[in-house]
Amino acid sequence: MIVRSLDPLRLDDGELWVAGGRIAEPGQGERIDPGGGLVLPGNVCAHTHLYSALARGMPYALEPPRDFLQILQRVWWRLDRALDERSIRASALVGGMEALLSGTTTLIDHHASPNAIDGSLDIVADALESLGVRSVLCYETSDRDGPQRAQAGVEENRRFFRTRRALSRGLIGAHASFTLSDETLLACAEAGPLHIHAAEGVVDTGAVGRLTRLGVLDERTLLAHGIHVDDEELADFRASGATLAHNARSNMNNAVGRARVLELGPRVALGTDGIGSDMFEESRTAWFRLHEDDLLAPWGWPLATLAESARLAGRIFGESLLGTLEPGAPADLVVLDYTPPAPLDDSNLGGHWIFGLSSRHVRDVMVAGAWVVRDRRLALADQDALAAEARVDAERLWSRLEETPVHTFEPQGAIS
Ligand SMILES: [Zn+2]
Repeated sequence: MIVRSLDPLRLDDGELWVAGGRIAEPGQGERIDPGGGLVLPGNVCAHTHLYSALARGMPYALEPPRDFLQILQRVWWRLDRALDERSIRASALVGGMEALLSGTTTLIDHHASPNAIDGSLDIVADALESLGVRSVLCYETSDRDGPQRAQAGVEENRRFFRTRRALSRGLIGAHASFTLSDETLLACAEAGPLHIHAAEGVVDTGAVGRLTRLGVLDERTLLAHGIHVDDEELADFRASGATLAHNARSNMNNAVGRARVLELGPRVALGTDGIGSDMFEESRTAWFRLHEDDLLAPWGWPLATLAESARLAGRIFGESLLGTLEPGAPADLVVLDYTPPAPLDDSNLGGHWIFGLSSRHVRDVMVAGAWVVRDRRLALADQDALAAEARVDAERLWSRLEETPVHTFEPQGAIS
């Protein structure tokens, strides 16, 4: 069975053909055989941090963080300063590998490495392209590491935004309102569409209002989190046409609160904020969290937010059909080894998605017409060698991390 579109939901028993990197009319190019399973459009992760891919299980000997700011000062703002070019590459390869194996074909990434800024986005892009992952990249500009690094961040974004690769595009990355001066924020916005954290923790309260006042929130902006917003900011967000990447598991893990996802309007996409890139798992958890609060939440919500993630990527790539399997769409698709144990059609795919489907069913993955996963193995790289090399890089990274002090940045007077 072929899932042509997640929103509106459309399934059929027809044939699926690929030619020239795109879904083709029947009879043209290669026929995709579902093998009795299900073929889906590839999933899109609307916000992630590949640079954290080697962080799982890393040592932590400091006082436990008590709030979101301390999590940044003691964990992530130490890890990002310990990254060098080699560990950036290893992180991107591991993150890209896990994305493809879980059926995610596009990653919208937010990269930070304050001691290796220049050229870092090319390292990430090269690594992802070597595996066949589609990506949208940016560098996390911030004033927290001083004016030189802020300027270098803007420049890295500006440089990469101008490049044109087959599988990669750029946005202009900015960390968050509370670590950015007006000057730096405006320099980012002047360079292109922003991808910025907004109102993730209480420390960033007022961010959406500030972006609105500065005139930098528009339909090309991608905000991540959007939790601490008042009613006026919520209306500003909706009026702007911007997209919000909701990161349910990360929000739970950091205890930062709950986004009002049903009130934020139709442009709500799903990200992982660096907790892998398994969108089956993310969408399911996001759904359970939402449903716990609101039994009347619409059943189509998980699929609609995944479809919105794909539309976001489609707008960035200038591919309006990305995220569908309609003729003319880029051939980004996933073949699932899923034999439905109950009737399945376009009225109930949401139920199968939440209660049955998962990344364990992912068998084959295609990006832009090329097979990148075949029979649960990477097609373009040796995944065992890649993981073995990454473990060596992770040990090197962890030893530098232990020598990296707690970040001393405090948010004072950044918000206008
Ligand atoms: Zn993030």
